[in-house]
Amino acid sequence: MNCLFCKIIRRDIPASIVYEDEQVLAFNDIEPRAPTHVLIIPKRHIDGVNALADTDDELVGAMFRVAAGIARERGIADTGYRTVFNTNRDAGQTVFHLHLHLLGGRALGWPPG
Ligand code: AMP
Ligand code: ZN
Repeated sequence: MNCLFCKIIRRDIPASIVYEDEQVLAFNDIEPRAPTHVLIIPKRHIDGVNALADTDDELVGAMFRVAAGIARERGIADTGYRTVFNTNRDAGQTVFHLHLHLLGGRALGWPPG
């Protein structure tokens, strides 16, 4: 599939991978917006939040638990972090393969722009 993140999963293009298991891959965002900016993605292609099925509930839970584990490893679990799914134009989604942003390591403004 001609999808950037599927290419990262297949190792067709390089990424700075920080975590992998059977269902999930996590890698550093190429254009980090915070000291920690990691993307957590399912290995199976899903376009985005609007395309989630009820059978994906466990997968989405696993993505959040991976994010929490990375936050713990990076020492930002207690100071805080943000987990974000952007959906479509108004949220600025640019890659249409489901991804959870993990952002932290600095105080984050609220609400996001
Ligand atoms: P979104 O705007 O929510 O669709 O987020 C897409 C994210 O993917 C952005 O934060 C980009 O910086 C990031 N990104 C794009 N290409 C790559 C890449 N090759 N490796 C890592 N992150 C990427
Ligand atoms: Zn994909």
